[in-house]
Amino acid sequence: MLAAKRDAYRADVHARLAERFWSKVVRGEGCWIWAASVDDHGYGRFGIGRLRIEPAHRVAWMVANGPIPDGLSVLHRCDNPPCVRPDHLFLGTQRDNMRDMIAKGRGGGQFQRRSA
Ligand SMILES: [Zn+2]
Repeated sequence: MLAAKRDAYRADVHARLAERFWSKVVRGEGCWIWAASVDDHGYGRFGIGRLRIEPAHRVAWMVANGPIPDGLSVLHRCDNPPCVRPDHLFLGTQRDNMRDMIAKGRGGGQFQRRSA
């Protein structure tokens, strides 16, 4: 397949995926909430193709920004698992995730806002 043709095909797949994805999201003033199926932790689940299920917030980040670099997680600024609003999401390592959870006081500490 020619590169240009392949790129056009990929752009088309991406557009359809994005359309299907955002059709399941309720956009509020603050968080945008995933309105389809969620896992036990409240994170949205989105099927890509037939076999792959991705957490909805990861798909939101990919749709908005492109592929997620290896080894990085998509984390929430708003600490709201079903939220998929791209500007509430940021990339971090698993270590950042743990630190973030501690900083946000899951367990009783002080809530800390990250600078955006
Ligand atoms: Zn949010």
